[in-house]
Amino acid sequence: MTHVGVIGGGQLGRMLGLAGIPLGMRFSFLDPGDTPCAAAVGDVVTAAFDDTNAIRGFADACDVVTFEFENIPADLLLGDSSLDVFPPAAALYAAQERAREKTLFEQAGIPVAPWRAVDDQDMLDAAVADLGLPLIAKTRRLGYDGKGQSRIQTAQDAEGLLERMGGVPLLVERLVPFDREVSIIGTRNRAGQTVVYPLTQNVHVNGILHRSETAAFDGQIKRQAVRHFRALVDALDYVGTLAIEFFIKDDLLLGNEFAPRVHNSGHWTQNGAPYSQFDNHLRAICDLPLGATTHCRPAGMINLVGQSIVATELGGDNVFLHDYDKEERPGRKVGHVNVIADQQDQVTRALDALAAQIAR
Ligand code: AMP
Repeated sequence: MTHVGVIGGGQLGRMLGLAGIPLGMRFSFLDPGDTPCAAAVGDVVTAAFDDTNAIRGFADACDVVTFEFENIPADLLLGDSSLDVFPPAAALYAAQERAREKTLFEQAGIPVAPWRAVDDQDMLDAAVADLGLPLIAKTRRLGYDGKGQSRIQTAQDAEGLLERMGGVPLLVERLVPFDREVSIIGTRNRAGQTVVYPLTQNVHVNGILHRSETAAFDGQIKRQAVRHFRALVDALDYVGTLAIEFFIKDDLLLGNEFAPRVHNSGHWTQNGAPYSQFDNHLRAICDLPLGATTHCRPAGMINLVGQSIVATELGGDNVFLHDYDKEERPGRKVGHVNVIADQQDQVTRALDALAAQIAR
């Protein structure tokens, strides 16, 4: 029985456990909380994410180690070659800092919105002059779910912005009047075998993912996404599931960010794909052949944010509740609902109905 160690015990860890138990795996989670929601599917080692000794001891006790949470010290993982962690720490290192992430995209040939790294007011003024308005400023580290962002619509917005954003290094980029936001999710295993899921369209509300659905895209958009995905995972000699988020403007994909882990916009694969993103992540890190991503159904997902729903309130066929057993708090992801159907427009209608139900 393969013993999988997961750094982080949140819902992504829980869903990795739910996917891996039928494959004969057992799980341990390293997490600072005593009872993270992944505790339902494995043992918990309580330790801080920067407790290097604890992480080493954890890794020694497991057959393979992965992570479901990105804000762990990549330097520690990078600096210790005896720590066999998948995905590779270099991917985590790049994803943790937005300037490194954009540079990596550019090196992999993935177009991005024009951007500048900004550390002080002079650099900010120069960025405004070079890039023009409107812009969006993001903290270079520790930004997620729309946190640590500020729009610069006018020259006045740029005054005092660094202080307002906590005096930390920023990345400033052109605000993209995108037509759609999409993500591509796929998996690469240790042998370099790569599979990708159908492109997913995403809608964010207040910077948090609200809903995702597989949608119709023309062939050249899909080909760009797959090419960019392969270029990135090959550049990183990546192992595991990875997601890239893009803006579509006219016929061009612009890379926004990537996640070196299973991703919220891929949760629909639990019910709409023969092998889910969690299943394939585990297969990849355990050196197993990947499951096919062909024959996916039209599918969608809506997040339950702040408040869950009880299964008995969900009507209809092909509607699947995934509750994370987390305490309800405003702005906190506590579950999601997946839907599948024969046609994409039926998925869209089912998500519309769910959105209305959740809003009540
Ligand atoms: P991020 O933390 O970079 O994923 O940003 C969260 C959300 O903010 C994105 O999903 C977009 O909806 C929006 N956003 C981020 N960057 C830009 C941009 N350059 N132009 C327009 N919207 C953006």
